[in-house]
Amino acid sequence: MEYKIAVVKGDGIGPEVVEGAIEVLNSIGEKFKHKFIYKEVLAGGSAYDVYGEPLPKETIDVCKSSDSILLGAVGGVKWDRLPSDKRPERAILGLRKELGLYANIRPGILFDPLKDSSPLKAEIIGDGFDICVVRELTGGIYFGERGSRETELGQSAYDIEEYSEMEVRRIAKIAFDFAMKRNKKVTSVDKSNVLESSRLWRRVVEQVSKDYPEIELNHLYVDNAAMQVIRDPKQFDVILTTNLFGDILSDEISVLTGSIGMLPSASLGEGGKGLFEPIHGSAPDIAGQGKANPIATILSAAMMLRYSFNLRKEADCIEAAVNRALKEGYRTSDIARNAENPISTKEMTEIIKGFI
Ligand code: NAD
Repeated sequence: MEYKIAVVKGDGIGPEVVEGAIEVLNSIGEKFKHKFIYKEVLAGGSAYDVYGEPLPKETIDVCKSSDSILLGAVGGVKWDRLPSDKRPERAILGLRKELGLYANIRPGILFDPLKDSSPLKAEIIGDGFDICVVRELTGGIYFGERGSRETELGQSAYDIEEYSEMEVRRIAKIAFDFAMKRNKKVTSVDKSNVLESSRLWRRVVEQVSKDYPEIELNHLYVDNAAMQVIRDPKQFDVILTTNLFGDILSDEISVLTGSIGMLPSASLGEGGKGLFEPIHGSAPDIAGQGKANPIATILSAAMMLRYSFNLRKEADCIEAAVNRALKEGYRTSDIARNAENPISTKEMTEIIKGFI
């Protein structure tokens, strides 16, 4: 089969880690006889430098006409002073909106060989955890009405959290569908003791759950959820939550797994198309030094194979190669302990390719 992939390398370490993922995808293509056709486009700071805007129309068009999108990361100090509509990060929000990518899937997996890198105590970690955060991505407070006004107390500003039944229903279905393929447990996180939007959220999630009698559903207030993921992460299978709460909780969970350089993500819409990217940013502090860990992006490519192209064996093959590289002790500097000799981005890529 042939698959068209739009490639946005982005800024900072983006190009280094995306090149690693493409090499691994090519090895998979050779082994399983698939053809991946890449079309490179600009977004973020590098697009601003060429087009004067972070998300040019050509990029949107290529992304829309591709089967899926692989993205590195965008942003950097060079563009930090630009007005907010020109900033590199707008490109990501714009792509999500343009492509209707309303579901953000973030696995929080503690890889066995990296247990020592987690800030949690060994007795809490036990034999590890595997949490899947399903975060609503195109609604809520990040896209709601906003503004500011002069008041007697000085300037005041507001951002509105608003969800429709349709938005909650479609993201809830995604979470329940994921749970059906996992351990059949969904924890919905809201703040329904205070927020009207959360009361609607909870009501709709309960309605959707009726179509999934095998799934165990429970609800947590977000403040409790923030504690529970640290106190006992093993209790979670799928966490379903809003745009804002998911942003915060998924970053918290990523820290528990050891390194931000390990975790992939997928943003999905209708019809299987998705945007696949590591959860980390452009890491300007290490850009161009060959130090970046490519694993998060390589695992994002594996998610693309599984969720966009339905190539499960191929995705398993990448994940097994990553696990083997870690088990055999290969470490980039972000996951290396003092005594270990860190390897470069390119070396890690070569080792993973060798295990495909
Ligand atoms: P960051 O994730 O880029 O870096 C945080 C720390 O983690 C840094 O010390 C960095 O060196 C390290 N790190 C990140 N990825 C790594 C990897 N693969 N291997 C080894 N170490 C890694 O977050 P930040 O410093 O807050 O942001 C830097 C820039 O990235 C900002 O401009 C920010 O807006 C942008 N950003 C972009 C995205 C995105 O493109 N989706 C996401 C987050 C931040």
